[in-house]
This record gives sequence, C-alpha cells and structure tokens, in this order.
Amino acid sequence: MFDFLLTDDQLKLRNEAREFTNWVPREMILDMDAEKIHFPHEYLKEAGRRNLLGLRLPKQYGGRGLGWVEDTMVAEEVGVASYSLACLWGVGADIVCEAVVKYGTEELKQEIVVPLLRGDVYAAECLTEPRGGSDFFGAATTARKDGSDWILNGQKRFIVGAEGADWFMVYAATNPGAPARERMTCFMVPRSAGVESKYIYGLMGVRGGGAGRVILSDVRVPERYALNGINGGFPVFMTNMIPERLGTAAMTVGSVRPAVDIATRYTTQRKAFGKPIAAFEAVGFRVADSVLMLDAMRSMGYTTACAIDSEKVSAGRCRRMVSETKKFITERAWDVANNCMQVMGGIGYTNVYPIERILRDIRLSMIWVGTNEIMQLIIQNEWYKEFLKGHVNENVRDVEADALNADAPDEKVFG
Ligand SMILES: Cc1cc2nc3c(=O)[nH]c(=O)nc-3n(C[C@H](O)[C@H](O)[C@H](O)COP(=O)(O)OP(=O)(O)OC[C@H]3O[C@@H](n4cnc5c(N)ncnc54)[C@H](O)[C@@H]3O)c2cc1C
Repeated sequence: MFDFLLTDDQLKLRNEAREFTNWVPREMILDMDAEKIHFPHEYLKEAGRRNLLGLRLPKQYGGRGLGWVEDTMVAEEVGVASYSLACLWGVGADIVCEAVVKYGTEELKQEIVVPLLRGDVYAAECLTEPRGGSDFFGAATTARKDGSDWILNGQKRFIVGAEGADWFMVYAATNPGAPARERMTCFMVPRSAGVESKYIYGLMGVRGGGAGRVILSDVRVPERYALNGINGGFPVFMTNMIPERLGTAAMTVGSVRPAVDIATRYTTQRKAFGKPIAAFEAVGFRVADSVLMLDAMRSMGYTTACAIDSEKVSAGRCRRMVSETKKFITERAWDVANNCMQVMGGIGYTNVYPIERILRDIRLSMIWVGTNEIMQLIIQNEWYKEFLKGHVNENVRDVEADALNADAPDEKVFG
C-alpha cells in the first residue's frame, strides 16, 4: 500500500504486520513447500498472540474493529512471507469468523470466534466439491433433519487448512428442489464423529497449508450451528465473497512484491556484454512494466477497499469492484512473476532464488475463491445491470448525440 495514503496509525499497524512477517522462520516456509509441515499451527498462534487475526472484527471478540483499508494493507504484508501462510491467515479469521460474527448466535461467537482470533483453533471454509466449484449452488452435500439435529453427508475438496481445522464451515443442501437462493444452509461443523480430512493433493504451490479433502459421513450437527438459520446460506455466501476475493487480491500483491525487488537487485548486479543487464531495454522495460503493474494493482486494491469502507457504494457496484480487483490483480501478478523470472535468466528458474516458488504459489490466485472466468461473469452481469438502470453516468453529456449523423434513425438498426 502507498505510504502517502496511510495515516500514522495505519503506518504503525503496517509496521506490526511487517514485524510479524519478519518473525516467520525461514525453515517454516521451506518445510511447508517441501510438505514436511502439513499445517503450521505455530504461525496462527503467533498471529493470534500479536492480535493480527480478524482485524475487521469487533474488539469484543478479539478483533480490532478496523476497516478494509487496514485489512488489505496487512494482507499485503502477510502475503510477503508466503502465499500459503497468507491463505491460512485469511480463511479462518477473515472469512469464516466474519460469517459467524454476522450470522451466528452470541454463543457461537464465543465458542468459535474468540478462540480462533487468539490462534488457538482453526476453521476451514468448505464450498468446493469434487463435482464442481464454479457451479457452487448445485452442491451435492446434503443435510437432513433428525429431531433437533441435522445429519450431513457429502464431500468437499481442495479445502485450505482441512488438515489442521477444528471447525468446518460447510454448505449443504437442506432444500434440494428449491431455487439456488433457498436451497442451502451454512453449518459450522466441529471436527467430530463422521468428519474426516485427507491431505492428498500434490499441489503445484501453496503447499503445507493443509489443503485437503473433507469427507462427511452421517455427521450430526445441532441446528444452532446453522448460520443465518436453515436455508439461509445464500446471504452468508454473498457476505463471504468480499473477504474471499478482496483478501486474495491483497495478499497476492504482497506475495509477488518480493519478486520485483529481487529482479531489480539482480539486474543491476548481473552483467552481460560488459554492462549491467538492467541497461538493456529488453530487461529494464520488463522491470519497469512490473513496477507499473504493481502500482496499478495497489491503486485498484486501495480504491476498492475505500469503496467498501465508505458504505456509500451499492452492493452490486461493490461486487463488480471486488471481482474486477481480484481478476486484475491476480492476472497482473502472474505477469509480474513471469517478467521477474525472465529477466533473471536460468537462475530465476532454480531454487537459488524464490521466484519459482512465488510463481508456483500465486498461480492459485486466478483459480480459487471463484475462477477469473467467474469474476468476468460477475463483472459483465453487474455492469449491464447498473448501466441499464442509468446509475453509471448520471448527469453526464450524451456524447452519442455529438456524431455528425447522430440523427439518422434509418441507420440505427438494432436487429
Ligand atoms: C490449492 C487450492 C485451495 C483451495 N481452497 C479452497 C477452500 O479453502 N475452500 C473451498 O471451498 N474451495 C477451495 N478451492 C477450490 C477452488 O475455489 C475451486 O477449484 C474453483 O472455484 C474452481 O472450481 P473447480 O476446480 O471445480 O473447477 P470448475 O468449476 O470445474 O471449472 C473448470 C473451468 O471451467 C470454467 N467455468 C466453469 N463454469 C463456467 C462458467 N459459467 N463460465 C465460464 N467458465 C466457467 C472455470 O472458470 C474453470 O476454468 C481451492 C482450490 C485449490 C486448487
């Protein structure tokens, strides 16, 4: 995030986040990438100890009651150490806890949010199923009523933190024949009889963060664990899409940022044909383009954070801005990592430098929390809706009428 946009308090908080990122032991990052660690409990404990989990959540539950500007600023710094750590940092505290705070009972807030923000327990978010992630509302996991409990059956896959989670936020069909908005319930499921997690994926990146399959076999859950009540999953899902996507965007900026620093340093030190390679336009321009993209990514992330914090922007516009930000940042981050690897030549492709890990890690950002194709769909839907309602350009000049032959009805044929 740009220093000149930040207040003294925000800069102080950023420094706290940087100190936390500097605390992360190098061995933790390497052991996670080598999958010697499957779930870094100490990382979350340390984040909790520093009160750096759930920054936007109310202080009474262990958060700091801050806004999106602070959250994205810290997410960027958290992303610097490792994308896998940042995923864990965001999912449990920012995504699951926000849903519990917003839609859960006071009892659930005390039971889940308070210990989670202390770093004592972890919660995974379970939407994706083997049959598909994009078509989320078609989920096949079911819950049937049995007395005052619900019995869950189904499977979820690619669930970050599944390996270490104490709680699973599970969407299940409770009203299977109903339209999408009314067919799902979001249950908080404790690790209990019938819940099994399997660490089975040979991931390209973001390793060691416990991503696994979650199998639910006749899991008994009391009705009080349903967030927003039975068949009330849709608003919970919509709420979660903001922290999922804006949080992902922010941490992606942080994860790719070191690649630019490393490439900048390297290209001023490495010589070819008698001069530093940064002097060749083909090299220096790639670095320049990367810096440009990094600044554009940050600008977009900051603007979207401000839009949500302002509470003046409609839900549809927020959805579009968040989707644009997720798509734009994650795609530009990929270009930046690729540029940085290219200007370092062969050594950039080795594990002598971490560019190869950064590139492997951030590739996920275009796929998870809704693929970038799904982001495109949302942008398309929201833009047309907003434009056709006349809400985009109110009280602006109608430039279409300025064409020389604007008044040619016979030529303005639309079908
Ligand atoms: C490492 C990792 C961690 C993850 N963590 C979690 C997690 O913690 N919790 C969780 O619930 N999920 C998680 N996911 C799942 C992730 O969100 C999904 O993989 C993603 O949403 C895509 O779903 P899918 O893999 O089933 O692909 P599909 O839905 O099968 O999509 C395949 C392709 O088809 C395209 N496509 C599908 N429908 C459309 C459409 N209507 N228009 C245009 N294109 C379309 C998609 O964009 C994609 O390119 C994780 C995934 C990975 C790899």
